[in-house]
Amino acid sequence: MAPVDIAIVGVGKIARDQHLPSITGNPDFRLAATASRSGGVDGVENFETIEALLSARPDVAAVALCQPPQVRFDAAAAAIRAGRHVLLEKPPGATVAEVQALVRMAERAGVALFATWHSRYAAGVAPARDWLAERQVRNVTVTWKEDVRRWHPGQDWIWQPGGLGVFDPGINALSIVTEILPHAMHLTGATLEFPLGRDAPIAAQLSFAVNGGASATADFDWRQTGPQTWDIAVETDGGRLDLSKGGAELRIDGGPVVTEDDREYAGIYRRFAHLVHSREIDVDLSPLVHVADAFMLGRRLTVERFED
Ligand code: NAP
Repeated sequence: MAPVDIAIVGVGKIARDQHLPSITGNPDFRLAATASRSGGVDGVENFETIEALLSARPDVAAVALCQPPQVRFDAAAAAIRAGRHVLLEKPPGATVAEVQALVRMAERAGVALFATWHSRYAAGVAPARDWLAERQVRNVTVTWKEDVRRWHPGQDWIWQPGGLGVFDPGINALSIVTEILPHAMHLTGATLEFPLGRDAPIAAQLSFAVNGGASATADFDWRQTGPQTWDIAVETDGGRLDLSKGGAELRIDGGPVVTEDDREYAGIYRRFAHLVHSREIDVDLSPLVHVADAFMLGRRLTVERFED
């Protein structure tokens, strides 16, 4: 089958680090255009806005939306209205209801809509899900601590309303937990730490009840310098499972580590090719719902001013 002509919208860090090489490496797609305010990609036709792209290039069948979440809904709605397939970077939107609206629009238009959760494609996640499916989960501990100055330099949007603050990486952990646990869970308590003068939290501690009787906690912090921690530990009736390095490494009962090279975005584009060809919708909102619940139920603490 001929490759699908795809455009990238918002050519920033994640587009350059992951989307461009993944599209190049996938014969099901061909990068046909970009919509970028800052110039796009050498040798590829660029448009200032997605609206200009959609009207000038009816051949572009799909778009990958890689901008900050606060501006993604309008772009996605325009693309769906124009009959294009849409890939949404994580988080899929700035609110839960706007993504639900996109689902209804995509259903009516008969186009593919994919809310990606890249961490779910990390090497340890599928084997962890399969191992847990046959066991009784007792306790889940998530520790997601990184240095915001190292990973998000100059990203003002991440501190603004809708930018999610520490939940921008924390939602990756929640996307893994909601994928691997055999039961649903719901938030029971949260504390969110907002630096003085900031609209988004720098740290959060969450607790959950897991259907089936287990409990889970998550500790997110953006002030960790030195070694970085992206760990999930699950205690079960049949042993302990540890996912580390953001899901890339899996260890069961202290046994050998299962790992592979980074393959998250290759997996995303394989899945998107399937969705485009079958005009399907793949939107799981559960990680975003837990974050929304944390903003709704969480106690808010003001902590010292933080400059990045
Ligand atoms: P970024 O580099 O700060 O911004 C992405 C691009 O979006 C910008 O370069 C710009 O592209 C466009 N953009 C920025 N602000 C905009 C605005 N107000 N209106 C319209 N377009 C705007 O961000 P990023 O790190 O790539 O993250 C983008 C998304 O990917 C986020 O949702 C993030 O959670 C997700 N993500 C990031 C990473 C990561 O490691 N950084 C990993 C996984 C997922 P143009 O100049 O081309 O218009």
